[in-house]
Amino acid sequence: MKSLNPVEIIKKKRDGGVLTKEEIVYFISAYLNGQIEEYQMSALLMAIYFKGLNEEETRAFTEAYIGSGERVDLSFLNKPKVDKHSTGGVGDKTSIILAPLIACFDVVVPMMSGRGLGHTGGTLDKLESIKGFNVNLSVKEFKEILSKINVCMIGQTESLVPADKKIYALRDVTATVENTGLITASIVSKKIAEGAEGIVYDVKCGSGSTLSDIKHSRILANNLLKVTKDFGSKAMALLTDMTEPLGYAIGNWVEIEECIDVMNPAARKTPLSNDLIEVTLNLAGAMLLLAGKCKSIEEGIGMSKQKLENYECLNKFNKLVEIQTGGSSLIEAPRAKIAKEIKANESGYVTHIDALKFGLASVELGCGRKKVSDKIDYSAGIKIIKKTGDEIKKGDTLYFLYGESEDKISSAKDMLENAIEIKNNPIKTKSRIIEIIG
Ligand code: URA
Repeated sequence: MKSLNPVEIIKKKRDGGVLTKEEIVYFISAYLNGQIEEYQMSALLMAIYFKGLNEEETRAFTEAYIGSGERVDLSFLNKPKVDKHSTGGVGDKTSIILAPLIACFDVVVPMMSGRGLGHTGGTLDKLESIKGFNVNLSVKEFKEILSKINVCMIGQTESLVPADKKIYALRDVTATVENTGLITASIVSKKIAEGAEGIVYDVKCGSGSTLSDIKHSRILANNLLKVTKDFGSKAMALLTDMTEPLGYAIGNWVEIEECIDVMNPAARKTPLSNDLIEVTLNLAGAMLLLAGKCKSIEEGIGMSKQKLENYECLNKFNKLVEIQTGGSSLIEAPRAKIAKEIKANESGYVTHIDALKFGLASVELGCGRKKVSDKIDYSAGIKIIKKTGDEIKKGDTLYFLYGESEDKISSAKDMLENAIEIKNNPIKTKSRIIEIIG
């Protein structure tokens, strides 16, 4: 390979140029082996954030990410292999329910997820709030678990898309997440490397996601579908609303708790009409459709409800926890030092909950990172008590904040000033599903 100059490559992108495949492969592999410094990769990411990646560059990035590690061969499993991936949102915890749920249909779910990105949470951080849950498995262990229980939930490792592992963590703390090309490469590379043959994308839209307007979410959905097909897998996308937090909990352990509540009909407090259940079931229907297990999303929704109600999904989740914690069936709750109740100071109806403010406040509480080395506080989080559409009386609880210090609680509380809008008249809540593409 001829010698390339990282500074010239950064400059080229900064000035709006189109990078060649050779330049992209060089930059990523030199970054991985330490020849290119963190600050140079950060500068390139910021240049990409402003100037974008065209279709060819996005494909080259995706290919370079996949090529940085192994591509898992799951052909020894004679079953459909289907996964779902979200572009990220506040309170978005559907993966925790979907992975065990779809595995109940004798479909293999080889789910490789990510950590928190900016103000949006990450499945890996949520899973790691379960004491002993190991997401850093070898390819051999990944395959073994899939062949035993049809489902395994892992992260990027040194042998599986290491380029995304390293660049993802850097994007999180350099304000370079929100770029459709970088998001596409990051997501599709994980899905292709893990061996999924069918992928459902949950493309979020609104302030609580990585892209706030519908135009960019549609572009992202089409990019994801196109690049996935280029790599030989089937895909469809659901555009879902993320202007409000999904469900009641925001954080890590608090979100696991909410998922267990949904999966446990006898103890369930979450109403079945809830937004989290709506999005989860629609994604489940789409996954079953791609797996060839039903003829329509509606049919798949009905089938999925049965697995939730007859405890099969909860049992599969418990098995997953047992196997990925190395034998523990006990889910031990991390307890926050401080819990603060926030009450309404007026009566009326909740008409809007600001997802961005809640997402940023959760990072402040310790649910996310402000720099790569930050440690997550798994016990931190927010539990919303009143959702949009609910009636509220002065003095009722609006939400709880959980954290390790009064300082963090107090700054999160300040950030949530006016985050919940209360008006005199009720509003009709809308479906979270905006459209289905592909
Ligand atoms: N999820 C990912 O895996 N990567 C992104 O860039 C955004 C969401």
